[in-house]
Amino acid sequence: MQQTENLAPHVQDIARALQNRMEPDAIEDELRRYLDYGVPLAQAKKDIVRMHGGTFVAGEKKLADVLPDERGIEITARVLTVNPKEITVKGQAKTIFYGLLADETAKVPYTAWKPFDNLQKGATVHVKNASAKKAFREADRIEINLGDYTTVTPSDARLEIKDEFPAPEAGGARVSAEHKLRDLREGQSSVTVVGRVLDLREKTISTANGQKTLVEGELADETGRAPFSAWEPEKLPAEMKQNSVVRVKGAYVRSFRGIPNLNFGQYATVEVLPDRTLPNAEELDKPKPFHLGELEAAGGGQGVMVEGVVLEVKKGSGLIFRCGAEGCNRVLQKMECRVHGKQKGQPDLRIKAVLDDGHGAATFFANREATEKLLGKTLAQCQEMARDAMTIDVVYDEIVPKLTARRVVLTGNASHDEYGLQILAGDLAFAPERDAEAEAEKLYGSIVEILQEVGPQ
Ligand SMILES: [Zn+2]
Repeated sequence: MQQTENLAPHVQDIARALQNRMEPDAIEDELRRYLDYGVPLAQAKKDIVRMHGGTFVAGEKKLADVLPDERGIEITARVLTVNPKEITVKGQAKTIFYGLLADETAKVPYTAWKPFDNLQKGATVHVKNASAKKAFREADRIEINLGDYTTVTPSDARLEIKDEFPAPEAGGARVSAEHKLRDLREGQSSVTVVGRVLDLREKTISTANGQKTLVEGELADETGRAPFSAWEPEKLPAEMKQNSVVRVKGAYVRSFRGIPNLNFGQYATVEVLPDRTLPNAEELDKPKPFHLGELEAAGGGQGVMVEGVVLEVKKGSGLIFRCGAEGCNRVLQKMECRVHGKQKGQPDLRIKAVLDDGHGAATFFANREATEKLLGKTLAQCQEMARDAMTIDVVYDEIVPKLTARRVVLTGNASHDEYGLQILAGDLAFAPERDAEAEAEKLYGSIVEILQEVGPQ
């Protein structure tokens, strides 16, 4: 009983993040199940929202990152203006207030649907539980609503508010911030990027309003790569093709299959830039080095290179059998598929292991090719080995000493889901040997320095 009461505010948080698309009872059941499994509360909340296609706004946002139709918004802003306005609601006269709020990133209009004592001209305020909508008649502008559930409290935060924000673009007053592709994060909006189109294709999907065609692809710059979806392909410039360099303004970022995905919606504009703006496709296609901490923060990435130490080779590495049912490919447990039951099974090789790079940890998967390369054995040879030993464990047992505690370089795609950060490694190689002696000397040197600094006691 006690626990039920404690969960209520968290259930509300989730409901808000899902824009009340899910019943509180169902949310509570699900939340309880996560907690029963020992998932920490904050993680459970985030996972549930993500699983149901919402965006969990944990903590504060900058005004430039607020999205239309977002709820439960928390911001710290300066009240630039407060103007009363008389309106009539159901025959009753009512006073509302409108004006402008600003932070370091943007200046946006607001409407307060009731009086707030702390909403004073020039005050810096902390606003919780506000909502946003598209501003009336102004594309790409949002308006903040302060309603019945909103709280406005004084804040002593010192905001650096500029007199002028960059010139409004496409009729909007929001700052469209230029980002490098590796800096894209779930939930960002009004994003400007410059990238080369590595890949471009049409895709038809079924929606509630019938068939819809969109354009999908991948953009790359010197820092990274990101998949994109253009939801209004008719608005793309005709000269935008594979290998074009484009500048996209007013895009937003959503995670799709665990990777930050750039979306061009109705407010986005795309222009083709001169080819020399960016290096050529071959150069941009090369995997970029990342830290696991960075990938964790980004929620994944494409074409990444990570170097770290293998902490543990997981069971389920080595010789495995996959479900043969069409489109399934799941790994069989005791020759049984979770969905399709008993199966004959297709033999395969893989590695599932934990990598740590000092900035974070990730589970990585390496495919048959990488496993064959590591073992110096083909799949057929591994099967023979297992037959002779009468257990598939022999393959696992051979991988463990070859990989455990070794420094490796992985290249592939990273994604983030309820199991944490995962890397699908297209390639696995041992890191170049470091000069151990030189490193030891360096370490010894700094110890001597420390000792000298501390001095004789
Ligand atoms: Zn199956």
